[in-house]
Amino acid sequence: MTEQQIAAVNLAEPAKVNLLGLSQAKMEAFFESIGEKKFRATQVLKWIHQMGVDDFEQMSNISKALREKLSQVAEIRPPEVLQQLDSADGTRKFLIRVSGGSAIETVLIPDGNRGTLCVSSQVGCSLDCSFCATGKQGFNRDLTAAEIIGQVWLAAKSYGQFGENRPRIITNVVMMGMGEPLLNFDNVVDAMNLMLHDNCYGLSKRRVTLSTSGVVPALDRLGQYTDVCLAISLHAPNDELRNQLVPINKKYPIAMLLESAQRYVAGLPDNHRKITIEYTLMREINDRPEHAHELAQLLQDIPVKINLIPFNPFDQSDYRRVSNNALRTFQDILTRAGFTTTVRTTRGDDIDAACGQLAGAVNDKTRRSQRYREQHSGTGRSANANWAAVESRTVENRSVENRS
Ligand code: SAH
Ligand code: SF4
Repeated sequence: MTEQQIAAVNLAEPAKVNLLGLSQAKMEAFFESIGEKKFRATQVLKWIHQMGVDDFEQMSNISKALREKLSQVAEIRPPEVLQQLDSADGTRKFLIRVSGGSAIETVLIPDGNRGTLCVSSQVGCSLDCSFCATGKQGFNRDLTAAEIIGQVWLAAKSYGQFGENRPRIITNVVMMGMGEPLLNFDNVVDAMNLMLHDNCYGLSKRRVTLSTSGVVPALDRLGQYTDVCLAISLHAPNDELRNQLVPINKKYPIAMLLESAQRYVAGLPDNHRKITIEYTLMREINDRPEHAHELAQLLQDIPVKINLIPFNPFDQSDYRRVSNNALRTFQDILTRAGFTTTVRTTRGDDIDAACGQLAGAVNDKTRRSQRYREQHSGTGRSANANWAAVESRTVENRSVENRS
């Protein structure tokens, strides 16, 4: 290093701590580290996550001296919304910039009194499920806890939910956006616990759901840190088929995954909770009556509810959506076998906001999307181009077809 470079390093301002993603414990540790009392943590958490404040100057129960000190060493920096798209059916999608030239997506799905926010946990995903747009993008990096809880913060802000006596728009959160939450364990746990915390969003543990394709060692640890609801992305009733759809199954096969999931729910204080089984139905792949019978057999002794998701097509995929007849037959078989079985309605169709269509704009470190384009040249647009098309599309004022 030259002398000039050393001088530049010494002069550079130390990075400020972003308080947005700090759990209660980490916030307390932060205040102690700057020689302040722990109770400040509760005050600041409330300002950020209940009042939506990102400027220390507005924190009126904190002295001017401490506000100044805080602004020297800390900041409250939400991620930046690049674009907000509103669907004709009320679904709202946020395209959010994250550092490194990538973007992620967050979706709010209103349904009667309920507003479900679908939150991303990673930029892209390394698990490469064969039917998922995020998987086709490859993996870039984990989101920080601030970027994860920041999605809730931004959405709450956009609906004017912060402040006293405001109607609560976001009633539920599902970790079903881009990425595999259990591969970003610590940040996801911190962010989910902020969602549950009474000083923050105060959501019920029955209204926050983590969805996983089956990272068993991480699932085995989850119960030590949180007690949110669990959804398992199963998509196949046997290992042979699941190996093709969800490659991580080769490492952690179905029996191992279901045992781990059962241990998780059995360990919860209210141990009557059911595991949600997600099953994306693709035409002539996993949608036959024999698949439904095999699924019923597989799950017969496990406390589950089954959510059938008609496959949502995207440009890079050759899979097709299940037919309405096959879907009805599949659901009937499961219902007759005694399972509570729901069908996920496609929402936000006109803004590509449906499950599995979230592509953001991933700067793929694995270059998977490029390889895929080379192999499939001429078969469709890239997922980045897919996003560009969304950006330039005028949201049509048409009623969204209820495809289920
Ligand atoms: N990585 C986690 C959470 C994100 S994916 C997981 O896999 O569970 C959220 C849900 O969307 C999963 O159930 C996933 O299987 C489903 N999904 C992915 N691509 C889809 C598509 N094209 N159509 C319908 N559902 C899809
Ligand atoms: Fe990753 Fe989930 Fe998509 Fe699989 S379905 S590639 S685990 S985001």
